[in-house]
Amino acid sequence: MLSKKNSIRKASIDDPALTRQRRVVLDVVRESDDHLTAAEVFERARKKTPTISYATVYNSLRYLKEQGAISEITFGNAASRYDRETARHDHAICTCCGKLVDFDISDTMELMRAAARRSRFKPEGIHITLRGICPDCRSE
Ligand SMILES: [Zn+2]
Ligand SMILES: [Zn+2]
Repeated sequence: MLSKKNSIRKASIDDPALTRQRRVVLDVVRESDDHLTAAEVFERARKKTPTISYATVYNSLRYLKEQGAISEITFGNAASRYDRETARHDHAICTCCGKLVDFDISDTMELMRAAARRSRFKPEGIHITLRGICPDCRSE
């Protein structure tokens, strides 16, 4: 029983169709300079591969994140967003339209060290989220 289950799992990992679908999911994330939710990735992936399922997209995103090919950003209870940029960077989020953009400032590391001293935590990472109104929403 158990060995049969294992062999099924192994077969699905090596399944070339699955590999192709993961590739599609990776392309969707890399082609976008937005930070897409899983639902948005699914919509775009379906245009390339109409037979792809939401479960496959979701599992591929999880797999690609584990492989370090993409990164996942979470904001409290909001849907995760997927980012083609895997190096450390910060985000500004528009409270009006939800637009999410990357930024990086050189002081972030110094801020992390200061925060670590204050909290007496051993720092592993820092992520700054600037909340505000984006230029598009401001001009309306
Ligand atoms: Zn906005
Ligand atoms: Zn980003």
